Amino acid sequence: MTDSTKVAVISGGASGIGRALAVAYARAGVASVIGYYPGDPHDPQAAVDEVTANGGRAVAVPADVRDSAAVDALVRTAVDTFGRLDIAVAGAGILRRAPLAELTDERWDEMLGVDLTGVLRVFRSAAAAIGPGGAMVAVSSIAGGVYGWDDHAHYAAAKAGVLGLVRSLGVELAPRGIRVNAVIPGLIETPQSLDAENSLGPDGLRAAARGIPTGRVGRAAEVAGVIRFLTSDEASYVTGQQLVVDGGLTTR
Ligand code: NAD
Repeated sequence: MTDSTKVAVISGGASGIGRALAVAYARAGVASVIGYYPGDPHDPQAAVDEVTANGGRAVAVPADVRDSAAVDALVRTAVDTFGRLDIAVAGAGILRRAPLAELTDERWDEMLGVDLTGVLRVFRSAAAAIGPGGAMVAVSSIAGGVYGWDDHAHYAAAKAGVLGLVRSLGVELAPRGIRVNAVIPGLIETPQSLDAENSLGPDGLRAAARGIPTGRVGRAAEVAGVIRFLTSDEASYVTGQQLVVDGGLTTR
């Protein structure tokens, strides 16, 4: 199976890392089914158009990762439209600022429902459709393992949970020939990190760049390239792993 005959589903694919990944797949010949949050301000058709402009094939499907039936439909679309499914990337995520005193049960459940259980829903549904040689990747965060972040404990807990999920599923699905890995981005310029209310915002990113060994924040395409590698046959002996993509931020 070469990349040019593969089919991927990407949750949260209308913007940021997910959209950059659909474009990376387009260049590699991988067809994408782009799942998008129905309330997302970013037009999913723009992502499809960018894939087409890069010589690829894609369709966009509304898929709230809090809804198992919607995620099942996302996976079914891959099989119905392109005839198969080889790759699943759980990229959907939210980021909310919440100091401990404001971290209500509702806010905790909202975060875990999207950033952790949302990954489970994508993986569970996709694993039922993917055959041997397939691969799945979750997008965690440095906050989930190696970087404490005040006012974001629920985000950190969800992203740490993702790493446990990936490690165990990597082992569980290996006998079926399905690989499961995680990427751990550092500071990447996307709509999420540019949101000053919940993340660093443009000024915060500029200031933070000074503390990153490479002297700059990352681009969505730089994370997408690593995900593309992990889901390609070039990474055929890599499973249950976590790959940090942070310009050296947590290496110091
Ligand atoms: P982004 O906001 O552009 O992408 C997140 C996507 O998830 C959006 O398209 C959004 O609509 C979608 N989404 C949100 N809730 C959803 C839901 N319920 N169902 C389906 N989709 C939903 O930002 P991004 O930075 O590209 O984020 C992609 C992933 O990378 C996220 O999991 C994020 O936590 C993670 N991450 C980002 C950074 C960074 O610095 N940007 C760092 C570490 C990890």
